Amino acid sequence: MNTTRVSCPKCFANMEPVLLLGMTIQRCSSGCKGLWFRPEDLAILRQDKWLAGHVPDTGSVRLGKLYNRIRDIRCPQCKSEMNKESDTDQPHIIYESCPNGHGVFLDAGEFTDLVHKTFWDRFKSAR
Ligand SMILES: [Zn+2]
Ligand SMILES: [Zn+2]
Repeated sequence: MNTTRVSCPKCFANMEPVLLLGMTIQRCSSGCKGLWFRPEDLAILRQDKWLAGHVPDTGSVRLGKLYNRIRDIRCPQCKSEMNKESDTDQPHIIYESCPNGHGVFLDAGEFTDLVHKTFWDRFKSAR
């Protein structure tokens, strides 16, 4: 598990670790409240609604949208320039991911958006 202190790639505030059943998510503590996930953890959370409900995506969506315009950021762990990706399921969500697989940065509100739309999509296809 990676417990090194990282700072937010967008606003440079400290990230605080949030422990969730075997995974650690980093959350921007005082600035934009963005969330930093390991790609494998994010994949699990997208499949597990119960667990996803425990992710503290509590930042202001308005602020998240503002910070969403900041695109040229570097990975807090390896300082590589991050890739901008639009989600395959929900192309309106654009997030940044480390080219070396360290993590994915989601602005405040984006995680909730990502998980909920997926939920409704699945609900529709289940009918
Ligand atoms: Zn931040
Ligand atoms: Zn990296």
